[in-house]
Amino acid sequence: MERTFVAIKPDGVQRKLVGEIIGRFEAKGFTLVGLKQMMVPKELAEKHYEALNDKPFFNGLIEFITSGPVVAMVWEGDGVVASARKLIGATNPLASEPGTIRGDFAVNVGRNVIHGSDALETAQREIALWFSEEQLSDWTPTMMPWIHE
Ligand code: UDP
Repeated sequence: MERTFVAIKPDGVQRKLVGEIIGRFEAKGFTLVGLKQMMVPKELAEKHYEALNDKPFFNGLIEFITSGPVVAMVWEGDGVVASARKLIGATNPLASEPGTIRGDFAVNVGRNVIHGSDALETAQREIALWFSEEQLSDWTPTMMPWIHE
């Protein structure tokens, strides 16, 4: 079963969107296997976004991500990496479709509420970066037969 890394950024936490966002992933049929709220150490933020470290917005992004609590999550399910990206919407919230999280709750690329891994390999890297094995639960919800035939 595929897993992906999702993080509600400080703006999403400050705006009390945590319950709404978790609800969307649960209602879709994905399984929560890891969850923690934390202040993100600068080193972790820099590692997480290391592919972007030559971008002009990098320093502002690190400052933003470390500015308040983040809710880090691991979600599991068939095709969850690509599906989570669809639930989240385009990077620029003005281009995100209504019905997506960014489309419904954000207007600015620097305050786009939520992160989701962009590919399977990225997901594996980010899960290992943010969570230890014992922080992840291996479990099968009893409602699984009502989500998968
Ligand atoms: N970002 C930004 N300004 C930009 C582009 C990106 O602040 O012009 C931030 C934004 O928070 C975005 C993150 O950098 O979510 C990572 O960018 P990426 O292109 O990887 O988008 P994502 O995968 O988050 O949709």
